[in-house]
Amino acid sequence: MSEMQAITPFNWMKLLRHGDRVEAGLRGEWVAPISVEMDVNNRCSHGCRFCSFGTVETQGYRQQNWVEFPVARLLPLLDELRELGVKSLTFTGGGEPLEHSKIGLILEHATSLGFEWGVVTNGNGLRGRAQRAIAAHATFCRVSLDAGTSDTHQHTHRVATPQFHQILDNLRHTRAVAGDRDLTLGASFCVMRSNWKELYQAAQLVKEHGGNYLEVRPTYPTDWRGDGWNDDLSRDEVDAATTELAHAQTHLNDDTFQVIGMVDRFASLHGYQKGYTKCRTGAVSTVIGADGRVWQCCIQRGMDGFEVGNVMTQSFREVWQAPAHKAMVDGIDVSKCPRCRYDHGNRLIEAVFMGADKMHSNFL
Ligand code: SF4
Ligand code: SF4
Repeated sequence: MSEMQAITPFNWMKLLRHGDRVEAGLRGEWVAPISVEMDVNNRCSHGCRFCSFGTVETQGYRQQNWVEFPVARLLPLLDELRELGVKSLTFTGGGEPLEHSKIGLILEHATSLGFEWGVVTNGNGLRGRAQRAIAAHATFCRVSLDAGTSDTHQHTHRVATPQFHQILDNLRHTRAVAGDRDLTLGASFCVMRSNWKELYQAAQLVKEHGGNYLEVRPTYPTDWRGDGWNDDLSRDEVDAATTELAHAQTHLNDDTFQVIGMVDRFASLHGYQKGYTKCRTGAVSTVIGADGRVWQCCIQRGMDGFEVGNVMTQSFREVWQAPAHKAMVDGIDVSKCPRCRYDHGNRLIEAVFMGADKMHSNFL
């Protein structure tokens, strides 16, 4: 892989650009998060079996907290976050952000405060006022597509009527509204037994509809948290999927489009170690749920022992600086955590900020 291919929004090396906050956090100083994931909504009209936070069958975290974030608290909360020095917001889930009844207003408020922001969506609500705000102001918008055909999309996302082509049209229209603006439009593809053969087709369609990338990764299991999903790929299927991935990269990657394969996540499906001793990414990146609870990370949303506090009853600063926050972080035993998308960040902090200078960073 060339250096340029490694420069993607998913590369945790970006943490090196925030060395001041990481080092202050390591010295035990209070630091504001660099980025906040905002669940504005726990509800979603799709019904993916692999959804990380509960399904209709399991009645998990989302179903038990089937709420949208009230704007009367959300708008001042965004003001607080900006004042504290938070740089970016990702409107994600939880549930489906674009199904929040006031999402246009929320995105416009985030813009007026000067945040960099992005949206992760199932794509069906990518229209109207929210689409205009995204086209004009977002850094990125990523659609969870998970299929290369309408039938498979209906199967993976369990939607009552087909939405696949509408979602692709929404992507194309968002690109058209954005015009020459540098908006990164992408889609994600969670690889499963039922869809891996459509990976190439999905990438081709996303490219044709104005997307800049397709991010390809295995699903995260959810059975450890009481939900119903475990990865269903055999070793042979992992090999076949990664071959398909390489095929798509060879034929579709160019200056405007990339198939981004999270190949390390495939490798960790059959042999995984944390590779670090303590979770430190929660100091620089946090998650606020639609019911106001703040979490150490997105994976542990709703889990006992990972709640920072609740911004419905306190300011974010009070929640963040409370002694209970530090006690919670100190109590995390990472050996009991599943593989998570913060693994690279935590490994990087231990290896580069705390360990021997294996990069020989002063030698350029
Ligand atoms: S679209 Fe996303 S939030 Fe909605 S059910 Fe699927 S995985 Fe869950
Ligand atoms: S190790 Fe991963 S799953 Fe565990 S608390 Fe940290 S970020 Fe969350």
